[in-house]
Amino acid sequence: MADAMLHPEFETLGAEAVRAEQARLWPAQWRHVRNSAFYHDKLGAGTPEDLPLDAIAELPFTGKDELRRSQERTYPFGDYLAAGEDRVVRLHRTSGTTGRSLQLAYSRADAALTAQIGGRALFASGLRPGDRVVHCLNYCLWTGGVTDHLALEEAGACVIPFGVGNTAKLVETILDLNVTAISCTPSYPALLEKMLREAGSAPRTLGLRLGLFGGEAGLDNAAFRDGLEATWSFGVRNANYGMSEVISNFGSQCERTTDLHFHGADAIVAEIVDADGGSLPIREGATGELVCTHLAKECQPLLRFRTRDVITVTGTGACACGRTSWRFRVTGRTDDMFNVRGVNVFPTAVQKAVAGRPELSTGHFRIRLEGPGPYDRILILAEAAHGLLPADWPGAARALEAAVREVTGASAAVELVAADSLPRTDGKTSLIERT
Ligand SMILES: [Zn+2]
Repeated sequence: MADAMLHPEFETLGAEAVRAEQARLWPAQWRHVRNSAFYHDKLGAGTPEDLPLDAIAELPFTGKDELRRSQERTYPFGDYLAAGEDRVVRLHRTSGTTGRSLQLAYSRADAALTAQIGGRALFASGLRPGDRVVHCLNYCLWTGGVTDHLALEEAGACVIPFGVGNTAKLVETILDLNVTAISCTPSYPALLEKMLREAGSAPRTLGLRLGLFGGEAGLDNAAFRDGLEATWSFGVRNANYGMSEVISNFGSQCERTTDLHFHGADAIVAEIVDADGGSLPIREGATGELVCTHLAKECQPLLRFRTRDVITVTGTGACACGRTSWRFRVTGRTDDMFNVRGVNVFPTAVQKAVAGRPELSTGHFRIRLEGPGPYDRILILAEAAHGLLPADWPGAARALEAAVREVTGASAAVELVAADSLPRTDGKTSLIERT
């Protein structure tokens, strides 16, 4: 089992040993984080010199808007910078979809830690020394380029920095260099496939054995994954879950489950908090917002950072792969959540329901929300499946309503529209239209 992990000595630790390691790291981080003007002021006078790890849940949350304001006050890194600016060796910028982007500062130690956790995640997804992996994300500013590149290196693979664009050159490079793995967004293979088919070639002739994906939703859709695997005959892994304010990649699928492993326990204390901000124990079935506290961050350490990602814990204890880290699924975003007669609904749940009936719908849809809510039911505009006769649309709509009700627990009204009539989203576009 050991050769299936990058850090077997850590990745097989039991929960108590992991907690002990966190307790060992925490005191120094607690002292360090208060070097920043931001936390010095936020925590105020009377903050204890020593704070037990278990008392983290009593600290105030940190929101992304606070970080934004901090960077407006003190440009570019914000007054939550806890180390001298001369410690910063890399600057990234977030590619945030809401509000202004943030500047991220890495010291050498931060860069090493980020690569270490990211490498662990990519190795878990099946990347190995001896692999040649072509990295096809944009290298401009965001962490998807250089930082992910360095994590791929950390896993031990030979990394080919390709970036985006010029698919003809990419195909040539993959064939010429006997590339075995590709790291890209889930929508990228479709682009490559189109080009290959136009050239009279099939995707599987490229000989890739592993597809490492991240950065967009979609991989939770079993039909989408199966389609990718069938077309390319490579292993499909969501190999990159994280957020650049915390650690850019701390979650990935191993070769034995489609849930995400939490790989970052020696860098982050993770909490799950309910709608009222109460901390829930990390137990199977727990659902809430992921909140992260750094354990070993030098430049921009954060306390109880609200990620706005809602996750569900799907497993604790050992996984079939041998790793003991807990597993989870991303259920949605707190920003996208809406309430229907007391039931919290996420667009991703609606997506799951609609995508589960490919004979009725292409899987593309929009949710219409009128006013601030709460709402009586979910109004959904969904595309009919290709070839579904208009006479069959009313019956299909009722069946989709039942499917949505079953998955979300909320009632729905579905209206069908023609296939391919809704604008395509790139995974970051909202599935909700508010009027
Ligand atoms: Zn596993």
